[in-house]
Amino acid sequence: MKSSPSGSEPTAYDHGGGVRSLRVPIPDNPLGHTLVYVVDTDHGPVLIDTGWDDPASWEALAAGLTACGTSVTELRGVVITHHHPDHHGLSGRVREASGAWVAMHAADTSIVRRTRETRPERWYSYMAAKLTTAGAPEEHIAPLRTPPARRRPFPGLAPALPDREIVPGEFLDLPGRRLRAIWTPGHTPGHVCLHLEEEHPARLPGHGRLFSGDHLLPGITPHIGLYEDPDDATVTDPLGDYLDSLERVGRLAPAEILPAHQHAFTDAPSRVTELLAHHEDRLTGLLALLATPLTPWQLAERMEWNRPWPQIPYGSRNIAVSEAEAHLRRLVKQGRAEAVTGSDPVTYRAV
Ligand SMILES: [Zn+2]
Ligand SMILES: [Zn+2]
Repeated sequence: MKSSPSGSEPTAYDHGGGVRSLRVPIPDNPLGHTLVYVVDTDHGPVLIDTGWDDPASWEALAAGLTACGTSVTELRGVVITHHHPDHHGLSGRVREASGAWVAMHAADTSIVRRTRETRPERWYSYMAAKLTTAGAPEEHIAPLRTPPARRRPFPGLAPALPDREIVPGEFLDLPGRRLRAIWTPGHTPGHVCLHLEEEHPARLPGHGRLFSGDHLLPGITPHIGLYEDPDDATVTDPLGDYLDSLERVGRLAPAEILPAHQHAFTDAPSRVTELLAHHEDRLTGLLALLATPLTPWQLAERMEWNRPWPQIPYGSRNIAVSEAEAHLRRLVKQGRAEAVTGSDPVTYRAV
């Protein structure tokens, strides 16, 4: 482990076997930081994720690479677990400084492309229509109808367009390393975990190490909402995808998990079992609420969050409704809930 000049937080942590992690801060976010991994290859270092696009985060990334005995300009490639700005935010800047390639799963790349191409007005009207369908009250929807010119633009409107595709099941082009992509949709449609199929440097029992992104974290559950796409009306089942992806990762039985937040941990199968049980408890709890028919909005209001509903800020309410809808879709798909015929906005009840 190397220390920062101030001697406080270490800027780089050595996990052994040519893998280090850097703590790249996420401004104003309770998560604190993204763990960006530096993987040595025969052609130079490659990053797994890059961190939030902010000057302080960029400085932390650069300082961390210096602590690893390298620099941004030496980077050969960037492997992105998913398109979220705390993972993909600095990719463009890294590519500009180093000429590194940027790889992402095609499903998340198409989200990046859409984000770059969709005008803010289109997003606002899409969100307004979606919230209306979900049964949101008029005072919640009204701000979305304000002309976008008078609103501040979304942050991260122009994320970097990746130039390589991560193909599920295949090895990434990392000379001297065996890093295989495992498609784990759920948190996003193109989320991938990356399986380093090499013996654990401390010979821990299990199969290699897994860079798990946001899919599998030691102490928190990732947000599972809908895959928002104004151009695609397919009824997806992100929670179902997520639960399947969890089982897939549990079966790999990696010796150690290297997640993108919090800290490295072992015994992935136990964590997977815990998360599957957590989601089943939550689904069962929602069924009890659905004894009375509810719109997704009403369900979100009654679900348990990290604070009471009236204290949840505007943007987080939209995320909460999306999460409520993901759970409803799972229950409908399982045949445990159904839409009430003729209700408008549509309400759902337990079967
Ligand atoms: Zn994420
Ligand atoms: Zn994240």
